[in-house]
Amino acid sequence: MSNLELLPINVAGQWRLGGGDVYESLYPATGEVIARLRAASLADVEEAIAGADKAFRTSGWAQKLPHERAAVLYRVAQLIRANAEELAQKQRLDNGKPISETRALVASAAGTFQFFAAACETLEEAITPSRGPYVTLSVHEPMGVVAAITPWNSPIASEAQKLAPALAAGCAVVVKPAEVTPLMALELARLCEEAGVPKGIISVLPGKGSVIGDAITKHPLVKRVSFTGGTTTGKHIAHIAADKMMPVSLELGGKSPTMVLEDADLDHAVNGVLYGIFSSSGESCIAGSRLFVARSIYDEFVTRVAEGAKNLRVGDPASESTQMGPLITARHREGIERYVDLGVSEGGRIRTGGVRPQGEGYDKGYFYTPTILEGLTNEARITQEEIFGPVLVAMPFDTEEELIAKANDSIYALAAGVWSRDFKRAWKLGRAVQAGTVWVNTYKQFSVSTPFGGWRDSGLGREKGREGIFQYMEQKSMYWGTNEQPIPWANAL
Ligand code: NDP
Repeated sequence: MSNLELLPINVAGQWRLGGGDVYESLYPATGEVIARLRAASLADVEEAIAGADKAFRTSGWAQKLPHERAAVLYRVAQLIRANAEELAQKQRLDNGKPISETRALVASAAGTFQFFAAACETLEEAITPSRGPYVTLSVHEPMGVVAAITPWNSPIASEAQKLAPALAAGCAVVVKPAEVTPLMALELARLCEEAGVPKGIISVLPGKGSVIGDAITKHPLVKRVSFTGGTTTGKHIAHIAADKMMPVSLELGGKSPTMVLEDADLDHAVNGVLYGIFSSSGESCIAGSRLFVARSIYDEFVTRVAEGAKNLRVGDPASESTQMGPLITARHREGIERYVDLGVSEGGRIRTGGVRPQGEGYDKGYFYTPTILEGLTNEARITQEEIFGPVLVAMPFDTEEELIAKANDSIYALAAGVWSRDFKRAWKLGRAVQAGTVWVNTYKQFSVSTPFGGWRDSGLGREKGREGIFQYMEQKSMYWGTNEQPIPWANAL
């Protein structure tokens, strides 16, 4: 065990050691210990939620006028930018993504706070058409204590995506980051405090999801859970939420189809397919992991994608030129290897990859080569199940009807890509494919101003967009009487 100093967590605004077991966070590129901390305990969960409830009722955060809360959120955005390089380096160590990518995630987190600050101060309520002697209004109130449970793949961005709208709404937020990536949520909480978010409005409770996340979800004072993670965990949370009559948003897994028609701009499509599946080492809910290519261009196209995959720079996440870093843990890599073996046993051929890279720099980290399999059907397990790694299954198609049927034949429906120069065909496919997000002639582009979420087993609800704030608010209708006479019914008595 390393002798790094134990990091404090944030329990109801108090920075102190957690009451749970000591655990270590490892740098996936080398396996080195980069942080040690004590996880939160169940007593910490109680204290954090009670403190959040008190801060919600008494700190004045919920009562601040929207432009006042917005001013604090703008400061958070500024502080993220002022500390951008340090945050990006820390996130690189925490989850092993290449530095170019963690810099982009930090910039995205700052943009998210800025966007929700703007949304907060410009949020409008509605005066609805009156149908009687009263004025009718639709207004929104903050829910109170809400929870944000996040996965390990893009910590600072996923945490900002939940914290910023929840704070903008006036809520108190208990954050449960993934056990293996606790650092970014703690950093964000520090910056929020520095920007002027009152103590107790944010708590950060690292620890095991099955214990800490579960206790947070079940707690009666928690009025909403915004969850990003796997579908199995999401369904478990949905069951608890049903018992509590609690709204949830669930951003879950995916097995997204990318469709390349014979009239596509092939240079763009090759690049888009490579970026769609292999950026973030494929550890991305929206990874384009099922590739459908028109049979007439299939060989040429897949040869180009395979060449591109072989040339991707896999390695040191600290290097500016690295495109793919290691996978998150040794265990996750083993899971991916088992999937590739399964694909081969299902009749698949490995076109490229399928091994750990060899040589200097690869001996300690959890690296894996970009992998493409062919010869499989859309029904194979490896084509249907989410792998969450750099593994692409390529398949030819003959007709658009077959393509649409196969693209939609999945329990998931998170994202999809269409590559075609023909506007009408791309439009038809884009509308026919069932997915929360469809990219046409591009892939994996993101904007905080545009709602994001999945259909079917990919989730419930939407994050981002101006409407994102309303997730953390209850809607209230008000009738404001204008009648100078009493209500006639009472007069009749
Ligand atoms: P998990 O579902 O295992 O974990 C996500 C979070 O939930 C972690 O903080 C985890 O804690 C916590 N958790 C685990 N069990 C419970 C529980 N019983 N109650 C409450 N919280 C719990 O997912 P992964 O971390 O493995 O992340 C990968 C998954 O996330 C993939 O399926 C991916 O597709 C999905 N994802 C979806 C995105 C989207 O926007 N749709 C974006 C990114 C990822 P702990 O760390 O201790 O396990």
